[in-house]
Amino acid sequence: MIADGRVARLERLRVSLASAGLEALIVTHIANIRYLTGFTGSSAILVVEGGGGDAALYTDRRYDVQAQEEVAGAAVAEIVRGDPWKAVRRRVEGASATDGIGFEAHAVTAAETQGKNARYAHLIPTTNLVEQLRLSKDDDERRAIAAAARVASDALEAVLPSIRPGLREIDVAAELERELRVRGSEWHPFPTIAASGDRSALPHARTTERVIEPGDLLLLDFGAQVEGYCADVTRTVVVGGRADERQREVYEVVREAQVQAISRIHSGMTGREADRQARSVIEDKGFGDAFGHSLGHGIGLEVHEAPQVSRTNEDPIPLGCVITVEPGIYFPGWGGVRIEDDVVVTDGGTELLSDGKTELVELV
Ligand code: ZN
Ligand code: ZN
Repeated sequence: MIADGRVARLERLRVSLASAGLEALIVTHIANIRYLTGFTGSSAILVVEGGGGDAALYTDRRYDVQAQEEVAGAAVAEIVRGDPWKAVRRRVEGASATDGIGFEAHAVTAAETQGKNARYAHLIPTTNLVEQLRLSKDDDERRAIAAAARVASDALEAVLPSIRPGLREIDVAAELERELRVRGSEWHPFPTIAASGDRSALPHARTTERVIEPGDLLLLDFGAQVEGYCADVTRTVVVGGRADERQREVYEVVREAQVQAISRIHSGMTGREADRQARSVIEDKGFGDAFGHSLGHGIGLEVHEAPQVSRTNEDPIPLGCVITVEPGIYFPGWGGVRIEDDVVVTDGGTELLSDGKTELVELV
C-alpha cells in the first residue's frame, strides 16, 4: 500500500520539477527520501530525474540488503563504498547550471556549499519542493498518524493509575516511554516531557528528578511513531488530590480554547487565523500574556513540520494537512496547563486523530 503512494509521490515531484525548470533533483533531507522511496536508513542521497527518468538511491554498505528491499518499486538502490556523494558526483559530473540539476538548499551545510570541494557548486538551489508535497497527507499517512496517536492514548491510559505523589518526573517518563514502546511506537519522536508543580510552567521543560507532591499539576507531553509517522499529545493532570479553584479555572480555559479551535479551524484559513481561534478565548479570560507559544505545528514524518499554526504565518492551512492544536497557559512559580491533540484539516473543519479525551483528570 505504501508502494503505490511512492509512485504517485515521485510523479507529483516530477510535475514540480518541470514547473521549476529542473531536469533532476538531488534529495538530501532524510525525511524527504523516506517519503519518496520508503528508505528508513539514516544516511542516503536520492537523485530523482524529471520526465520519464528514474530515481536512484545512493547509500553505503550498512544498508545493503535493507535499501534494496525498501526502495524496490520506487527507486534503484546503489551501494557505494564510503561516501554516497562519490556516486552522485559521477552522475552529475560536468553538470552546469544550465543542465537544471537542483539540490535542497535547506538541507545542506554551509561547508558543503563553499570551498573548492563544494558539493553543490554549479547546482541550482531549491527550497521545500518535496516538503510542499508532504503538506497534504494521503490516506495511508493519516492512518499511520492515527495509529501512532492510538499508541499514545493507550500508553497514557496504562500509566495514569500508577502515577502518585512520591514518584519522580523521570519515573513517570520512563514508565510512559516503556508503555509507548511495548505498544508499538518505533521510537520516541522527541524526549518525553514530564513536568510537575511549578516546572509545568516551562513549555519545553526537561524531565528531572523532582519528586511529585500532592496537589501538583503534572504536564505530560509525549509522542509515538508508527511507520515513521509521528503523533504528539499533551495532557495535564492533577496528582494526589482534587484540583484547587485556580487549577480548575486555568484548566477549563485551556480546554475551552482547544475545543473552540478544533471546531473552527478549516483549510484555507491562514496560520494566524487558526491560532486566533484559541488565542481569543484565552485573551478574553485575561490570560493572553500567559499563552506565549504558537497554537500548533504540522506533524508527519517529522514531529515539527509545515504548516506553522502561529501568529506569524499568513499562508493558508492546506487541505489534508495534519496539525497539532495545543493551547497553554503558564504562570512562572505556579505552574502551567497545556492540552494537545492532533487533527486532520478538512475543508469543513477538522477531524481528530488523537483521542480528544480532555476532561480534567484528578489522580486521587
Ligand atoms: Zn507535544
Ligand atoms: Zn506539539
